[in-house]
Parts: sequence; C-alpha cells; structure tokens
Amino acid sequence: KFDRKPLIAGNWKMNMDHVQGITLLQKLAWTLSDARHDYARVEVAVFPPFTDLRGVQTLVNGDNLKLVYGAQDLSPHDSGAYTGDISGQFLAKLGCTYALVGHSERREIHGEADALLNEKLKAAYRHKLTPILCVGEGLEVRQAGSHVEHTLSQLRANAAGLDAEQAARLVIAYEPVWAIGTGEVAGPEDAQEMCAALRAEMAVLFDESVAAGVRLLYGGSVKAGNAAAILNERDVDGVLVGGASLDAGEFANIVRFEH
Ligand code: PEP
Repeated sequence: KFDRKPLIAGNWKMNMDHVQGITLLQKLAWTLSDARHDYARVEVAVFPPFTDLRGVQTLVNGDNLKLVYGAQDLSPHDSGAYTGDISGQFLAKLGCTYALVGHSERREIHGEADALLNEKLKAAYRHKLTPILCVGEGLEVRQAGSHVEHTLSQLRANAAGLDAEQAARLVIAYEPVWAIGTGEVAGPEDAQEMCAALRAEMAVLFDESVAAGVRLLYGGSVKAGNAAAILNERDVDGVLVGGASLDAGEFANIVRFEH
C-alpha cells in the first residue's frame, strides 16, 4: 500500500492572511524539522488562500522547505475576460504542485456543477498541476444508503474524458459533506468502504494499474487523535484536513501518524 506515498494535505480555506500564513507555515516547518520528518516518506501539502501563495513560494524556496503547496480552486480558462478568476497558468508559475477541484464548499456555495469541474480538472492538467478532486455525499444521501453510488457518479462525471496518464496522476479526496467542519468524523471503515469503491471504479473507467496507483484521501473532521486509524486503512492513502490544519502542532501530529 505504501508504494503510494501518503499525502497529508491542509486546506486553510478562507483563513490566514498572507502575514498569518507565513507564520503558520514557519511554525509547521520548524515543528516537522525538530521531529526530523522524512518528507520522502510522507508528503505534506498546504492549501492557503490565493493571496498567500506568493509569500509561501518565497518561504519554501528561500528556506528550501520540502513541503509542497497548492491552490484551493482554479479557473477552467487560461486567461482573458474572467474577472475574479485565477488561471492554472498563474498557479503553476507560483510553484503550486496541486489544485483542489470540486471541494464541497465550491459545489454548494458557488453551485459548481459536474461539467464545470470536468473543465477545471482538464485546466489543471494543461498546466501540469496535480488536481485533487473532492467527492462525497451529503447527509440525506448517506441516510438513504446511496452514498457509494452518489460518490462514484461524481467521479464518473468529473473525470470524463481523461486519458490513462492523467488518471494515474489524479488524487481523489472522499469528503462526506456531513463530516466537514462538523466534528463528526466518518469511521475508518466508512473511509475504507468508499476508498475501495473509488479504486474499483478507477479500474473500470481506466485500468488496473491506474487504479492501483491512484492516491485516495479521506477528509472530514480529521484530527491528530483520529488520523492514524483512518490512514491505516488499506485503501486510504492520505487525509485532507481543514480546521486542524490551522494549528501547526496539531497538523504536525497528523503528519507524524504511525504506520
Ligand atoms: C475540508 O475542508 O476539506 C475539511 C475536511 O474540513 P474539516 O477538516 O474542518 O472537516
């Protein structure tokens, strides 16, 4: 399983201005360096607001930090009359490795639909950003028992038209909406159930080797106290952390999960 390098990703959402962001990142880097964290073994990524990215780039390059960073969203377009949007081209130039696509807050608050998210995934690949596609069901779907079908249908719609090479680089985050920011965490077996289903679906959509290599994350109220149990599930290759990523010590403890 750990041929797939675990990825611990911190989504800062709309928190931390560019000054606070630098302080948080410095604290995180110091904590991990004190703990002699091996970045070759467990990858660490942060997702600051757009306005922080230039400062993050300067700090990461200046101090030769091994952690990587990405954007919380990107435009489906590359440039032009799209006021307020941010191009993947700009994000690549700022040294971003990743871009989140289809976070539930984008789907819900901004009404981002599957066809748009498919365009955003393709935009990320055009600029050599690795997309982290977020999928997952709301509470009503979970209670109706159709969470697996719901989540797989998001994957099918969002990943339509990708080639096998792109699919092999895709990261998918299963984030049950009822567990995001609510303190309610899915059980490790729920995370495993969905990640296994997503992996099997990747084999159907692409092929076995794509499915075996694709990295699958769980997100939803992950903290240092519950991370290890989730991360030790067979098909879970990492976590996407919101609230707990704003505390350097807590996030560092998630990074240092035992396996
Ligand atoms: C998220 O924003 O992706 C998330 C999982 O948030 P939280 O950890 O706060 O539930």
